[in-house]
Amino acid sequence: MSGILLVMEKSVKLEDIVSLAKRRGFIYQGSNVYGGLSGTWDYGPLGVSLKRNIMNLWWRMFVDERADMYGVDAAILMNQKVWQASGHVDTFTDPLVECSHCKGRFREDKLDDPNKCPACGKEGTFGEARAFNMMFRTFVGPSGQNDLTIGEPMEGADDKHNLQGMKAMTYDPNAISYLRPETAQGIFTNYKNVVDNFYPDLPFGIAQQGKAFRNEISPRDFVFRSREFEQMEIEYFVHPDKWEESFEHWVTKCKEWFEALGLPAESVHELEVPEDDRAHYSKRTIDFEFDYPIGREELMGLAYRTDFDLANIQRASKKSMEYQVKGTNEKFVPHVIEPSFGVERALMAVLVSAYREDEQNGEKRIYLALPEHLAPVKYAVSPLLKNKPELVDKAREVYAKLSKENPGRVMWDDNGNIGKRYRRQDEIGTPHCVVIDFQTLEDDSVTIRNRDTTEQQRTSIDNI
Ligand code: ATP
Repeated sequence: MSGILLVMEKSVKLEDIVSLAKRRGFIYQGSNVYGGLSGTWDYGPLGVSLKRNIMNLWWRMFVDERADMYGVDAAILMNQKVWQASGHVDTFTDPLVECSHCKGRFREDKLDDPNKCPACGKEGTFGEARAFNMMFRTFVGPSGQNDLTIGEPMEGADDKHNLQGMKAMTYDPNAISYLRPETAQGIFTNYKNVVDNFYPDLPFGIAQQGKAFRNEISPRDFVFRSREFEQMEIEYFVHPDKWEESFEHWVTKCKEWFEALGLPAESVHELEVPEDDRAHYSKRTIDFEFDYPIGREELMGLAYRTDFDLANIQRASKKSMEYQVKGTNEKFVPHVIEPSFGVERALMAVLVSAYREDEQNGEKRIYLALPEHLAPVKYAVSPLLKNKPELVDKAREVYAKLSKENPGRVMWDDNGNIGKRYRRQDEIGTPHCVVIDFQTLEDDSVTIRNRDTTEQQRTSIDNI
């Protein structure tokens, strides 16, 4: 049976991706040496390259290659008024239920059976759901004395951190801040700065990439639902009468992005979010969903947010957020189209789309058919034999030449026999393996092996 057929028959399982990511140095459980911290993940040497390649591609496509886009990098800690005005303090919540039998806590709207505890299996043990705010709260500065006290530790909690001793300590509510739960607000708070400094014509956008934090009730499914993750967001400011054309523009751009990531078009689905499920301020939302191994789930969202955010800022800050059209007296608060991309969900979709298994010479092979521009390593360079100094020296020369042309994307690999090296490079998605052998010493030619076809070609070093 051909390798391709085998590939198509097997659907990718989440365990396949998690195991490859760990085995090959892409993604590890956060703090794993101490047993982990739920909902956090660390990127290893290859994971950080893949993630950066995705983020840099996004920045290039949506910021660098466009004349109507401005990049910002706002602070993660922001004045608490930001989150009060945006509605996050009051309404950024998920419904939390607690099992009266085992005390397990769950997100009500994600339960398979709303009457049955998924931990202990008891039925009818959930009381009323309560709104659980997902923002991580923190305190800025050595917070002054005030009338609020830190509560009792939970029953049975192990008081290693001396919280009991802190019970008498108080804090100033004005010192409260939050780890941002989205990057969007750091864009809105810079809207006025960008308009005042650059005075762009409408429509224009402000883009930001960076960490976001959500105290998810049940983080799960590998990096899909994490407590600390990365977003890439754009707020695209438009004339209120022209939002529809900009919305369509962004539908097209999102699809171009999926293509650039190498996601098969048939695995991405547009979900027109019905009015009842949309945020109250949104007049139109599309969720782009992807066929993950865990099912069809949200990859990213595209929303028309009206003037909700800027009008809130204007009200709370008492500063005008109006835009004056150049050369006219026309003034208004711009409306906003927001494409909101999640890095982890994009990365997971990339891994799922690239994962392949086939058979080579009677042996199972796993490889990642990553698009070349995303692959962490573009060229692996090997001397055929590790113990022949003349081959090693020549290979070092080739390695240096390729590294100069492709900084950070060339790997030196002389571990194990050549077959093992190929398998290892296949698993991390390296499209080209360059091998230096005895013929290289004679005519400066090398073999280049193609990851997907496993075919080898001879070519001169200058032609690589
Ligand atoms: P969900 O319904 O899956 O919780 P959401 O609708 O709350 O997601 P948004 O607030 O629209 O998500 O966030 C924009 C994007 O940020 C999402 O489409 C997703 O790509 C990413 N994202 C949101 N929450 C998480 C998370 N906990 N872990 C990883 N990525 C996330």
